[in-house]
Amino acid sequence: TLRAGVVAVQGDVSEHADAIERAAEAHGVTAEIVEIRRAGLVPDCDVLLMPGGESTTISRLLEREGIDDEIEAHVDAGKPVLATCAGLIVASSDAKDDRVETLDLVDVTVDRNAFGRQVDSFEAPLDVEGLDSPFPAVFIRAPLIDDVGDDVEVLAEWDGNPVAVRAGPVVGTSFHPELTPDSRIHDLAFFDELEVEAQA
Ligand code: GLN
Repeated sequence: TLRAGVVAVQGDVSEHADAIERAAEAHGVTAEIVEIRRAGLVPDCDVLLMPGGESTTISRLLEREGIDDEIEAHVDAGKPVLATCAGLIVASSDAKDDRVETLDLVDVTVDRNAFGRQVDSFEAPLDVEGLDSPFPAVFIRAPLIDDVGDDVEVLAEWDGNPVAVRAGPVVGTSFHPELTPDSRIHDLAFFDELEVEAQA
């Protein structure tokens, strides 16, 4: 059983829970969903999902509940995280907004709602590193990644800007892989590595 923690203080929590269950099932693994609304739950999770939503709200509640430090410890221990949209904003090193206390899990600078000024939401076929056909990427008031640190691998770009990144155990996307039935981003974040470990 994979204990999958879904950060559940705000945002598209049930979509993430469904998506990780689906992805796990495809690998013959049962996912036990742990909704994270208070401290004390993250340390028992194998993987974490940080949903989209409103990053200022998520950030404030993570800090208030003392969950922020536990997420940082999870990543320090090398355990996987998938952070999408507002989740990526919170996971970043700088959101250029005082209301967002970033967790510094991925060394990227993000511009909140950058795409949103042009167009509220859109879906685009996205070429992603490691995938052999385009991924249907749903962008909703998506953040723009405008600066990437040395240790960050860019997995996908849209319109010349990174929209999917990997840094150690953390995969971050500007878009919402939890909103489409395609599980390949979850595979990249969680299962490809587990399979390599299982074979080793
Ligand atoms: N732009 C939103 C924010 O700043 C994120 C949007 C989303 O998660 N769909 O929190």
